[in-house]
Amino acid sequence: MRKKSSQARNNRAKIKPKLAVWKFASCDGCQLSLLDCEDELLGIAEIIEIANFAEASRHVLPGPYDLSLVEGSITTSHDADRIKDVRNQSRHLVTIGACATSGGVQALRNYAREEEYRKYVYAQPDYISALATSTPISNHVKVDFELQGCPINKTQLLEVISAFLHGRKPNINSYSECVDCKLDGNVCVMVAHGTPCLGPITHAGCGSICPRFNRGCYGCYGPQDSSNPRALGDWMVSMKRASPDFVSRSLQTYYTGNKTFHEASEDFQKNREKAEALGETESLVGRDTDREDTNRKDT
Ligand code: SF4
Ligand code: SF4
Repeated sequence: MRKKSSQARNNRAKIKPKLAVWKFASCDGCQLSLLDCEDELLGIAEIIEIANFAEASRHVLPGPYDLSLVEGSITTSHDADRIKDVRNQSRHLVTIGACATSGGVQALRNYAREEEYRKYVYAQPDYISALATSTPISNHVKVDFELQGCPINKTQLLEVISAFLHGRKPNINSYSECVDCKLDGNVCVMVAHGTPCLGPITHAGCGSICPRFNRGCYGCYGPQDSSNPRALGDWMVSMKRASPDFVSRSLQTYYTGNKTFHEASEDFQKNREKAEALGETESLVGRDTDREDTNRKDT
């Protein structure tokens, strides 16, 4: 009897939690972050069964899965059904990247006529069947955690996987990019050089790559927890750091599907149109570019 129960314990110990990685409308860049883990990937494979990861192996184990990582947005009715099936097979579901957490660059279609884009992109658009919108996964099913970034940061991804395996909340800082930028010892590009930068409203995680190379952040990690794009944009415009048009366009890139970014972007576009109609050309002027190369050399 004792022998039987210890065998059952050993068998249970051998059963590893199953991980699945799913792709929807996306460029695969976030899945690559998992492959980028390289050394850590061997350690992960020792404690997790990588059961379904098309980018790494054709070998697929059937569900249910303990943890599903979902990349990409929902852009077709087929995918809108498929994500429900993924949810049903997953104990925990984590979305990874700008596409999955806000609709991605492809969410630009949400504010235009989708058939127009289709016409420009495909030689035979009649064969394409797509939804008029690109929406985040959380619009369709319950999501247990959203990891932002385009692409995501591999260290943050490892933390998320580890947290779910240990049944705890992921320890991902939701403060602004500026905090990491200062911790890294970078000179602030906006204060020192007047370069427009979305760092104050952007979620930390990239390792402040752009400011490190004297460039302004353009928000590819999406909004931080208490993001206020209107206040930052107003300040940049009033200080002639950027024009309303530049602020508007900067907010309409990777996280254009995000409500906070998009509504602020539309406001700055309206400000531009109003100023143009009133002939207030002075208020439309801003630097709008990174600092000139010659000036960069002194940092
Ligand atoms: S978030 Fe960026 S890197 Fe990730 S899949 Fe989408 S476009 Fe690619
Ligand atoms: S745009 Fe901003 S969030 Fe993206 S890599 Fe550059 S500094 Fe980081």
